[in-house]
Amino acid sequence: MRWHVLSPEPLSVCTGLLGSLLPDVDTERSMLGSRVKILSRFLAKAFGHRGLTHSGLMLLVAAAVLNGLLGSESLRGPWGALLLGAATHIAADLPTGGCQVFAPLSRSRLSLWPYVRTGGIGEIMLLVPILCLLGWAGFFGNGPVPAHHLPSAHHSRLRGHVLKDISFSS
Ligand SMILES: [Zn+2]
Repeated sequence: MRWHVLSPEPLSVCTGLLGSLLPDVDTERSMLGSRVKILSRFLAKAFGHRGLTHSGLMLLVAAAVLNGLLGSESLRGPWGALLLGAATHIAADLPTGGCQVFAPLSRSRLSLWPYVRTGGIGEIMLLVPILCLLGWAGFFGNGPVPAHHLPSAHHSRLRGHVLKDISFSS
């Protein structure tokens, strides 16, 4: 949202969070999978853990279908946030054992070096710097999409007025 990839909508925050849980619906030990055990058992049996639900290819297909059915603007809203949430989950699973990123075309797992174990010290050592970097980039860094200058200029003008009002009233 800060980088203007997604439009700032509260619903998108919710669907983004849901999307980040969605791929692990293929294991009944996950937060989402434990609530839909019949579905998660079926997915685990049919495709295995980190199979079809962890496919980057399926995300691209879903994005193309949404683009075709609802138009490109839908990818900037809650649907886009859902896909982005799922994409971040898949990206975060890549160093901890990897995923079948090209499922259903290929069942081989793509895994990033260094191999770290889920919940282990290696994951924390990898995760904390990435989160700090993302936090810094989200608040101060320039996004991959050029920012619109008009809203920020408007904000600074507003802030200026507020500060002036406060100083005069006291
Ligand atoms: Zn996962």
